[in-house]
Amino acid sequence: MKIFCVGRNYAEHAKELQNEVPDAPVIFMKPSTALLSENKDFYYPNFTKDLHYECELVLRICKNGRAVSEKFARNYYDAITVGIDFTARDLQQYQKEKGLPWEIAKAFDQSAVLGKWKAITDEDKNKPFQFSLNKNGVKVQNGQTENLLFSFEKIISYISQFFTLNMGDIIYTGTPKGVGPVEIGDQLVAELFNEELLNFSIK
Ligand code: ZN
Repeated sequence: MKIFCVGRNYAEHAKELQNEVPDAPVIFMKPSTALLSENKDFYYPNFTKDLHYECELVLRICKNGRAVSEKFARNYYDAITVGIDFTARDLQQYQKEKGLPWEIAKAFDQSAVLGKWKAITDEDKNKPFQFSLNKNGVKVQNGQTENLLFSFEKIISYISQFFTLNMGDIIYTGTPKGVGPVEIGDQLVAELFNEELLNFSIK
């Protein structure tokens, strides 16, 4: 099972990190050992002092395929949830400055937190998705798929030009603005259309 992630997929978030708005999707991957699901506790790792949450919509791939055209890409996902792409921002900054790969800042154990899956129909796919993240009861991120730079279909099509998609692969589709740090003791709750799909603590 593969975990794909899209970076800089909301213009306002690219801006807050002083990144350029990309002209093609920015793709990176995490290993399956990065997964954390079923609202299990997250343990703050000792290699960072600036761990950031990034709340994102996550898609589940339901069909094997490669070089999928954008037109047919909507047939390749059947479920959606909210997740957190945890990022060691201090390590990422260092790696970026040196032009080094990101994995130690993005793909470590527990860095891919996953909510409960919701099946989606073709009809659902025609409407925008709205999601949010609360930290200790305060809303810190709010996302709308209308603000995506690259649509779900574009992302699926693009990824499949390089990597064969397999049933069960998942895609983190990028974070809106409002990313920020977490501390031990924090509680994160993420919702899709005001329905809670993820609720876990930082230990
Ligand atoms: Zn992200």
